[in-house]
Amino acid sequence: MSSPGQDTGGTASRTLRDTLLTPLVRLWGLPDDPNLLRAQHRAFSGQVPLMYVILMTNTWALAITHVSHAPAWLTIGVPCLMTAITGLRIVMWWRRRGGHTTPERARAELGRTLKLGVVISLGFALWSLSLYSYGTAYTRAHVAFYMAITVISCIFCLMHLRPAAMTVAVIVNGLFVGFFISSGEPTFVASAVNVVLVSLAMLIILNINYNHFTHMVQAQAEAVALGNENFRLANLDSLTDLPNRRAFFARLAEAYEGGARERLLAVGILDLDGFKPVNDAYGHGVGDRLLQEVSRRLEAACAPHGIFLARLGGDEFAFLLTSQASEDQCLAWGQEVCEVLSRHFSLAGTVVQISGSLGIATQHGQPQSPQDLMYRADYALYQAKRGQRGSVVVFSEAHNDEIRRHAVIEQALRSADLESELKVVFQPIVDIRTEQAIGFEALARWVSPALGSVSPGEFIPVAERGGFVSRLTTTLLKKALDTATDWPAPMRLSFNLSAQDLSSPENLLRITAVIGQSAFDPRRLDLEITETAFAFDPAQVKRSVLQLRDLGCGISIDDFGTGYSSLSRLHSLPLTKLKIDRSFIARIEHDAASHNIVRSLIALSRDMKLDCVIEGVETAGELEVLRNLGGVLIQGYFYSPPVEASALAGCLSRFDRTRAATMGEAGLKAS
Ligand code: C2E
Ligand code: CA
Ligand code: CA
Repeated sequence: MSSPGQDTGGTASRTLRDTLLTPLVRLWGLPDDPNLLRAQHRAFSGQVPLMYVILMTNTWALAITHVSHAPAWLTIGVPCLMTAITGLRIVMWWRRRGGHTTPERARAELGRTLKLGVVISLGFALWSLSLYSYGTAYTRAHVAFYMAITVISCIFCLMHLRPAAMTVAVIVNGLFVGFFISSGEPTFVASAVNVVLVSLAMLIILNINYNHFTHMVQAQAEAVALGNENFRLANLDSLTDLPNRRAFFARLAEAYEGGARERLLAVGILDLDGFKPVNDAYGHGVGDRLLQEVSRRLEAACAPHGIFLARLGGDEFAFLLTSQASEDQCLAWGQEVCEVLSRHFSLAGTVVQISGSLGIATQHGQPQSPQDLMYRADYALYQAKRGQRGSVVVFSEAHNDEIRRHAVIEQALRSADLESELKVVFQPIVDIRTEQAIGFEALARWVSPALGSVSPGEFIPVAERGGFVSRLTTTLLKKALDTATDWPAPMRLSFNLSAQDLSSPENLLRITAVIGQSAFDPRRLDLEITETAFAFDPAQVKRSVLQLRDLGCGISIDDFGTGYSSLSRLHSLPLTKLKIDRSFIARIEHDAASHNIVRSLIALSRDMKLDCVIEGVETAGELEVLRNLGGVLIQGYFYSPPVEASALAGCLSRFDRTRAATMGEAGLKAS
């Protein structure tokens, strides 16, 4: 505890410290602000050589006027020593001029300069005063003029280092004023008073200028900080805190410009599978949480390899690999990423499972531009999505050939005369209980004058990617319906639609118009769509499907079992048929998994009260297995390949003969 008296003493000393000492220390000390220190260092290093040049010129001028009056050690020796010292300082500061320095180094160098300032100003002032006692009235006046004018030049040059300017002013002027006032010579006394006043005015102006300088440096630092923050925000994805699309492309361009062309530069694009259903089912809150959690997992997978990760938007992410990595290493890393994403996510009391498909393009072979790399990665991603989802595909030479061929196909198809170059062939769908064709699937054929015959497996996807498949659809549908008009009821026609045919009201209108204008009964028409059709715009596709059902058409899900449809979504659609994909049939005799899948798909169609067509049946063995599993409707080379319209009658009569033969066999067996 302190007594009241002590307390008063403490307060008094505190007040003294606060009112006098602290401002004085601040005035004479170096600033704390690192930016200001650096700015001072920069400004000072530019001006200090000039100051020394003026100082030495004036010094030698004074020395020369005193050569014949004063001893040589004073007029030659001391100026030589001073020239050597200032010369060293000039060289040192000249070297520092304009360069970048750390705040610590700036503080150390400026602090040393302050100390040296005391020595140098004392040295010069004492030297010039020591010359006073030699020579004439003129040379004495020269001493006074030398001191007054040199100190003013020095204060000017030291403008950005306030403590140094003040030290020089106080030392030199203090000695000047004391010395000349004590000389009693009225001219010098008057000069001393003048110098005091001028110096005071200069110090006031210096202080004002110094404050402006400080504010300017602070404002600059704030502007830079604000700019940096804006830049950071403009390059950041606010949901996941990952770099955004803009940041990614900037980084890609930078890596490319920075000579990464010679090293391996790989780009990856990842797209989540099954994100949309999560968003639809659980709401955007869970969707956002999922994206954040995905980002954390991806970050963890990227960090050890120094891979730059960004969110391009939606459920799409991108990677940039600038380190040395082989294609196999890229593939292995991509598989690791896919594996990490396939583990389940627990979010807000819900467990969800998704996967990620990844396309990677590397700089192997010829160097690619950033745009080329992105295009290739996107293409590889498309292949990953088309194949087994949740997998990684690295862009290869084969993809490159494919792209070139697709470009040629697209050109030819865009300028094709669809009416004459496109035609439709028909493949029967057979009821194995009666051995009769109950309908035909229409399949497109294109014979290009330039390219020859091109498979629909090739040209339909090209037209889909080019966005003009609907033009093909209307031509093909018209041709198929024209042929089918002659068929006896209840023979059915199946026709394939693309996702794009259903995802815009205009495209659908064109299709319903063709159906409406045809004499074929729409109730005998089945429209086949794949599960992927729902990936684009499920709501619009559902509206389109309902509209087609209103016309009386059947709706089949094609290639069933290969997509990602949720059963609930399928259930909400007014479907009439499922078509089991032929990839399962090819392995059904030897592969237990395929066998089990087909068995459950047949059971599923039965539960959903849908007809089930099994595609791609090529052998009697496969047919036997399917018959045992309860399959009824079969399509495939075993019965017939697709045939031209002109060969349909022959095809049908073959069925009649087969039927007659089997019935004959049955009759024989019975008798
Ligand atoms: P898809 O709809 O699954 O058609 C069945 C494909 O399997 C046809 O190939 C057919 O010739 C073939 N196929 C039938 N039975 C067998 C068999 O036993 N074994 C084997 N290995 N294949 C068999 P195609 O005609 O080359 O058509 C390929 C794909 O092109 C079609 O697959 C369909 O997705 C698309 N496509 C064909 N025509 C059209 C069309 O007019 N419009 C649209 N949007 N797509 C079409
Ligand atoms: Ca089909
Ligand atoms: Ca199919």
